[in-house]
Amino acid sequence: MTTKKYHCPECVEPLKSVHQSSSSMLNSEQFDAGRAGDYYCDKCKGTRAATGFRYFWEDRLRIQDCSKCGGAGDPCDGPKCIDGTVTVYLSPPYPKTPELDKLKEAKERLDTEAVGQFLDWLGEEGVSLCRAPSDEERKEIGDSFGISLKSLEEIIPIFVPAQGFGSVESLLYRYAEVDRKKVDAEKDSILKFTRECQP
Ligand SMILES: [Zn+2]
Ligand SMILES: [Zn+2]
Repeated sequence: MTTKKYHCPECVEPLKSVHQSSSSMLNSEQFDAGRAGDYYCDKCKGTRAATGFRYFWEDRLRIQDCSKCGGAGDPCDGPKCIDGTVTVYLSPPYPKTPELDKLKEAKERLDTEAVGQFLDWLGEEGVSLCRAPSDEERKEIGDSFGISLKSLEEIIPIFVPAQGFGSVESLLYRYAEVDRKKVDAEKDSILKFTRECQP
């Protein structure tokens, strides 16, 4: 079922539309998740699908007037001109990466690499990050030992592990005020973009 007649931007053969065969074991959602495009050319080689064909997404295919003959009058003999039009395949837009940009900026501004090395060194020296407990935690710790922490604290200062800071890496993300989950999602979108750019 083709509404528009696209031709392969490479070899000018008519593109075939991708449709699920009735014998497919996949449900339509699985099929959509695994598909490599809306159209394909079985004359051109591609790397994104097991078929080895070249795939195209409809939203990036454009039928344009041929720049030589302009689509009016006699079509020219240009290698990609079909009745005065050419099919072009637009590049996918490069994903926006605000959080990665923020991370890059923070790396330069805060020299997080040097800070990270210092924190690693502290760890190797047996130095752990600790903080003073809150009043509530003080009471909890005291209760668990059956003592009043106030009197104990007069002899030894009490600290609790700085949990919530986690690894050096997650500490640095926090220091730089960069959301790690967003960074990971943006890295995924770049990976997807790179895959999409392959023929
Ligand atoms: Zn082709
Ligand atoms: Zn032309």
